[in-house]
Amino acid sequence: MIKADVLIVGTGIAGLYTALNLNENLNIILVTKSTLTESNSYLAQGGISTAIDLDDINSFCEDTIKAGNYKNNLDVVKMVATKSIDVIRHLDFLGVDFDKVNDEFSYTKEGGHSKKRIVHCKDYTGKEVIEKLLDKLTRIKNIKILEHTTLIDLITKDNSCLGGVFLNNEKTLKIYSKYTVLATGGIGGLFKNSTNQRTLTGDALSIALKRNIKLKDVEYVQFHPTSLYQNTSKRRFLISESLRGEGAILKNKSGNRFVDELLPRDKVTLAILNEIKKTESDFVYLDISHKNADYIKNRFPLIYNECVKNGIDITKEAIPVRPAQHYYMGGIEVDKYAKTSMNRLFAVGEVSCTGLHGSNRLASNSLLEGLVFGKNCASYINDYIYSTKLEILDIHINTNHIIHENKNIFKNKFINLRGDLKDELI
Ligand SMILES: Cc1cc2nc3c(=O)[nH]c(=O)nc-3n(C[C@H](O)[C@H](O)[C@H](O)COP(=O)(O)OP(=O)(O)OC[C@H]3O[C@@H](n4cnc5c(N)ncnc54)[C@H](O)[C@@H]3O)c2cc1C
Repeated sequence: MIKADVLIVGTGIAGLYTALNLNENLNIILVTKSTLTESNSYLAQGGISTAIDLDDINSFCEDTIKAGNYKNNLDVVKMVATKSIDVIRHLDFLGVDFDKVNDEFSYTKEGGHSKKRIVHCKDYTGKEVIEKLLDKLTRIKNIKILEHTTLIDLITKDNSCLGGVFLNNEKTLKIYSKYTVLATGGIGGLFKNSTNQRTLTGDALSIALKRNIKLKDVEYVQFHPTSLYQNTSKRRFLISESLRGEGAILKNKSGNRFVDELLPRDKVTLAILNEIKKTESDFVYLDISHKNADYIKNRFPLIYNECVKNGIDITKEAIPVRPAQHYYMGGIEVDKYAKTSMNRLFAVGEVSCTGLHGSNRLASNSLLEGLVFGKNCASYINDYIYSTKLEILDIHINTNHIIHENKNIFKNKFINLRGDLKDELI
């Protein structure tokens, strides 16, 4: 048995940024089911949206709400847009190497944004941010990190969370905590075609359903318009929206343009799926080869190299692309401090549903959500933890039974609402 002040499950941007904002004298345990860097956050390419200045807040909110088909929570949208300026400044202060021109952020544009407002580190923003956060966190004495340790249940009593039950090397491990933060990311591992890490299978959502913790917007799932077309069962490689933001054009197999590339994701995805059906093809093309070759290699090194590995030189030819599951807007319902419907339990990042995204997330708003809610969550915990006691409850767990059960609880609930996507699931 392990005891902690705060237990954080997940080492993506949301879990790490929550940990970094907690008081340094708290005992914190960070847990991940795989390695420290096997997260969607590490894969993020395009960047992080931010209001450029106070005058841009309204326009940023409008773009977010329009993309979300007006299903967003307006108070949350305003709060996140307003706080975006501070969290980006903080990352810059921590040494994240954002692209800059004359010491000013070099903003880029992506679908659904009415202007350039996305900060980025070339096309590997996630890797850069996660490495900088890990560098800071691993120097903090009171933070312990456990890899290859999978959450399989929560320890609960009278609608309060007292910690979690984990599997580590086939052994059961109980971690008791004053507060528990779920930061377990998305559900892409449940889909045949997804840009997500295959390990992300919505485990915390199954546990939430079993423990009567409220979920919200369960049916809202996002498909990214442009993943590299590959005939394999592996994770789909993402061709970032920022390529279209920087002028890449979508063409059908006859070389004709068929959609405005900078519409929100759901609209572009639908247009591509229609085109694929109409032209009886498995993919469409995304073409940036009209731009200068040196510019392409320097601005999109990750995408350039991955395409070369697949026999495609994007400076000379178009990329075959098709939509793939990418993001989950639904999740565990939380308030602005990331509090769930269960006492002492928080959810941050993609596993949560804050209301920011409505039914369709605006490009680059996810990393931002993880940062803002991670900070809010930490500030609540910092305020209340000293008056909260650790409680130990002796429980017996049949792990085999639980793992089997967890596999399908969330999937079945999802299929109930989105039967149309049944064939897309594994
Ligand atoms: C290829 C790609 C590119 C993207 N680009 C961008 C972008 O440019 N900008 C943007 O805003 N968003 C982008 N997104 C979306 C964004 O990256 C994610 O939504 C965001 O990183 C989610 O962060 P998170 O911390 O919630 O989860 P993640 O970063 O996915 O981390 C989840 C963590 O939970 C752990 N975990 C899961 N289940 C368990 C369990 N049962 N037990 C223990 N640990 C568990 C995982 O091991 C992992 O450590 C991209 C996504 C992908 C896939």
